[in-house]
Amino acid sequence: MMEQKSTAVKTLTNGIAHLFKQNKVTQVSGHGSISGPNEVTVHKEDGSSEVIQTKNIMIATGSEVTPFPGAFPEVDEKVIISSTGALSLNRVPEKMILIGAGVIGVELGSVWSRLGSQVVGIEFLGHIGGLGIDMEISKNFQRILQKQGMKFKLNTKVTGATRTEGGIKVSVESAKDGSKKEELEGDVLLVCVGRRPYTTRLGLEKVGISLDPRGRVTVNERFQTSVPSIYAIGDCIHGPMLAHKAEDEGIICVEGISGGAVHIDYNCVPNVIYTHPEVAWIGKTEEMLKEEGVAYKIGKFPLSANSRARTNAEIDGLVKILSDKETDRLLGCHMVAPAAGEMINEAALAMEYGASSEDIARVCHAHPTVSEAFREANIAAYTGKAINF
Ligand SMILES: Cc1cc2nc3c(=O)[nH]c(=O)nc-3n(C[C@H](O)[C@H](O)[C@H](O)COP(=O)(O)OP(=O)(O)OC[C@H]3O[C@@H](n4cnc5c(N)ncnc54)[C@H](O)[C@@H]3O)c2cc1C
Repeated sequence: MMEQKSTAVKTLTNGIAHLFKQNKVTQVSGHGSISGPNEVTVHKEDGSSEVIQTKNIMIATGSEVTPFPGAFPEVDEKVIISSTGALSLNRVPEKMILIGAGVIGVELGSVWSRLGSQVVGIEFLGHIGGLGIDMEISKNFQRILQKQGMKFKLNTKVTGATRTEGGIKVSVESAKDGSKKEELEGDVLLVCVGRRPYTTRLGLEKVGISLDPRGRVTVNERFQTSVPSIYAIGDCIHGPMLAHKAEDEGIICVEGISGGAVHIDYNCVPNVIYTHPEVAWIGKTEEMLKEEGVAYKIGKFPLSANSRARTNAEIDGLVKILSDKETDRLLGCHMVAPAAGEMINEAALAMEYGASSEDIARVCHAHPTVSEAFREANIAAYTGKAINF
């Protein structure tokens, strides 16, 4: 399995080097720092450096793992691991303790759970899947992962960890009032408490580029920093830390530099949790619509009533649609389903084009496909009743 993963990573990264060549992009390897509004200095591994003069600079330095706060044993990527170590463990741990049941935590935790580990996820919040997930979907998702064998301790805080001979001991307590103190033992501790922008030794202070309180590079709507020739995109600026968001920002930022229009609708950026089944969503959650005082309709369709899901014996999950009560415009789509990460792109297309749930309900969908559940949920939102449920 690891060999297959390494081959895939190697092929994909080599692919980038090939694309650079094809598109006449010169790659200079080393640590880059901004030495002037139109100058980057590259510090190379062999100790030498190269100064590059340039019209524009785009900062795309990404993010790094947020370390666990306070006095905590260091991540050694063997017993105490980050997402990086969790991608290359050389054996299946018998017991894995996971701190942080957000997107990356449940993805990696569930991989090892499916491979046979007993995984316990400790989560400060009262739900899994991170911020931005629809609560009904999160509950459904948690039930499915629990059925698969994962355990969760929600509203729970980790107060410390110590290395033991066989692994690790973690102390936890109730996040609310410090009650329910408990010690958990495992052979591996996976820490997934978030990521933070990476701007170390980038030279931002030299040119006067400021960071916001969360360490993100501040940019305007054209992704331009306070220095007009310097732009920034991706994980190191505001917005969700997602590869497709970074990619789109990179494209439109360059289009803007070349005189084109710059526009991105963050409400139309899809989110996916790559578990099995997958979880995916786009747009507003029910909680957000309530808070914003928007009147909405709900359309739901369970996978147990979908022929393809039934045929494949993958009936856990549902598709949930939220549309505007007055205009019928699609406002959000949330799903737990096999290949939800594929299906969500249909909702993204619909939302980008301002579709109503009737528009989607009237689009012929191939049968038998799981995507029919998306259409059915829209039928339910539009007419009040799905056809096959
Ligand atoms: C475990 C994990 C799983 C994820 N899964 C998903 C997923 O399924 N889908 C998704 O959309 N997103 C996922 N993400 C998030 C995604 O990886 C990021 O949102 C995306 O890579 C951000 O792109 P970026 O270009 O901003 O930064 P990055 O892709 O992080 O690229 C930044 C690059 O800049 C280099 N760099 C940094 N500083 C310097 C410097 N001073 N000089 C030279 N080079 C430098 C870094 O080495 C790095 O190669 C995941 C992240 C993690 C950690």
